Amino acid sequence: MKVIVKNFGEVSPQEPCSIIDIIKMVNPDGLNNYCAAKINNESTLVDLRTTITSDCSIELLDTSNKECLSVLRHTTAHIMAEAVQNLFPEAKITIGPATDNGFFYDFDFRPFSREDLDAIEKEMKSIIKKATRLERREVSRNEALAIMTQRNEPYKVELLEAIPEGETITIYQQNNFVDLCRGPHLLNTRPIKGFKLISSSSTYWRGDKKNKSLSRIHGIAFFTKEDLEGYLQYLEDIKNHDHNKIGRELELFTTVDVIGQGLPLLMPKGTKIVQTLQRWIEDEETRRGYMRTKTPYMSKNDLFKMSGHWDHYRDKMFIIGDPDGEGEVMCMRPMTCPFQYFVYKNSQKSYRDLPCRYGETSTLFRKEDSGEMHGLTRVRQFTISEGHLIVRPDQMVEEFKGCIDLANYCLTTLGLHDDVTWHLSKWDPEDTEKYIGDAETWESTQQHIRDILNELNIPFVEDVGEAAFYGPKVDINAKNVYGKEDTMITIQWDALIAERFDMYYIDKDGSRQRPYIIHRTSIGCYERTLAWLIEKYEGAFPTWIAPEQVRVLPISEKFLDYADQVTAELQRNGIEATLDRRNEKIGYKLRETRMQKIPYALLIGQKEQDEKLVAVWNRKDGDLGQSSLDKFIDALCKEIRTKSVELTIRKEE
Ligand SMILES: [Zn+2]
Ligand SMILES: [Zn+2]
Repeated sequence: MKVIVKNFGEVSPQEPCSIIDIIKMVNPDGLNNYCAAKINNESTLVDLRTTITSDCSIELLDTSNKECLSVLRHTTAHIMAEAVQNLFPEAKITIGPATDNGFFYDFDFRPFSREDLDAIEKEMKSIIKKATRLERREVSRNEALAIMTQRNEPYKVELLEAIPEGETITIYQQNNFVDLCRGPHLLNTRPIKGFKLISSSSTYWRGDKKNKSLSRIHGIAFFTKEDLEGYLQYLEDIKNHDHNKIGRELELFTTVDVIGQGLPLLMPKGTKIVQTLQRWIEDEETRRGYMRTKTPYMSKNDLFKMSGHWDHYRDKMFIIGDPDGEGEVMCMRPMTCPFQYFVYKNSQKSYRDLPCRYGETSTLFRKEDSGEMHGLTRVRQFTISEGHLIVRPDQMVEEFKGCIDLANYCLTTLGLHDDVTWHLSKWDPEDTEKYIGDAETWESTQQHIRDILNELNIPFVEDVGEAAFYGPKVDINAKNVYGKEDTMITIQWDALIAERFDMYYIDKDGSRQRPYIIHRTSIGCYERTLAWLIEKYEGAFPTWIAPEQVRVLPISEKFLDYADQVTAELQRNGIEATLDRRNEKIGYKLRETRMQKIPYALLIGQKEQDEKLVAVWNRKDGDLGQSSLDKFIDALCKEIRTKSVELTIRKEE
């Protein structure tokens, strides 16, 4: 047999042989460094214990290769599972893969505490220190079933029962721990030089809430201690950029246990930002021909039976009253669509009345799992710039473009334009049950949206199975500091729901026609947008949305009167200004101004008072020298009016 080993040349081993045998021929001293191999340039990694039976080319991958991290991490997951069962023999194993940055393993066991994780880490270290070998075996499905039944691992038995009889199963064993696994795995634990168990969370068997709840342990693993420490430092850094930390420190929002999870309280400063955004959006929508509505936060469940939510979305709705009892049953609204449909239906519409663009700053309620709550991004009550456009089919493309233009305008103004990805969320033709309407309508609608995005030169990706049940949509997503993507803005094409609510308009020829509907947001959910802005700007907001724009700092109490006049003049011009009246050192006051990321400060001393000037400071350059108050106000009002993302009053070059 002839085997070409990349970087080592050709060898002629006896047939059959394992890749380990080949390593022993070309580089025996390096054996412990190799993790996996590639055969014939295929992208999948294979286990070094794999038997070679014919001529081929092989590439050997060692610990310096990034692709081997998944092998390391999966092996570390197995070691962790062994350690868990050593310490807690009642814990049943389920599954435990490598992830992008580490690994996890799910156990049928009570939740793990930090003390548990520390003990498990210690046990893992002692297993790793012994350079424990992992053995690989191929067995029949029935043999595997016998092993897992005997070991009393019901989840593994369930997995095996789903595999066709006669299939070969690979099993990996180290010490007394056995797992079903495709591999590949390390030969032994020696290359595991740096790992850490990060956290524990709860999940469900097969990710389904109807199944038994499981406890998941998340870990990270690297080939060197330095890599581990670098990654831990990175985790610490992003925690410092998390809106959940900055937003609380800057007193933008808080949460209170007795009020409930996912129900953040916006503090005065956070409220100020949301108010600025809301006024801006509402005015902008008015400019673009929207009419505003204000509809109830709740309705009888009959409305949601009509809309289909009662059947398809009830799990996520807060319901008041007993659906099985006698009395009235109310639902807190999870969306505003059906309310605005009745606004439309209030009077008969002709083709000349369309498009009807309805906007509402609507507060919505969704019963998210308590485990999913996070700061302002995963909440149970939120407020959204929602809107529904009721349009004639021939107006659909132009109106859809108008919604994209509005979204683009919002993103650009907030400086977030480069941070988003655009998605065309399509139906899944393999799973037509989930959707209403026929294949032809779906395909042609999707093509319309594709054409619009191409025409507007917007790069986008297409996601199968992400559409709403009534139509495809454009989703505009952004990543949070942890790299997780959230949908910020959505624009949905709906040619089907009008029928369900018997919405129509009278066409030119006097016939009744069904309108189309666009469901859309312009800025999305205010709480989530606030979170996004906090993370993007690390709390140093553009001046026009900063809750405090200027702080006036008298050098001593002697100058309070003049400082009062300056503050009043700023406020008269619509600027959010406050006066720091405390008898503190100016250095201290300035430090606080910087910490609170306030864009500008005006320092007031003897010279400023005598000559009716202000000494200007900004959070970026520091001291900017003296200016007349009028000149400063003019420049600042312009910065606010133009919604500048950058500070415009800067150090002169
Ligand atoms: Zn495995
Ligand atoms: Zn809607």
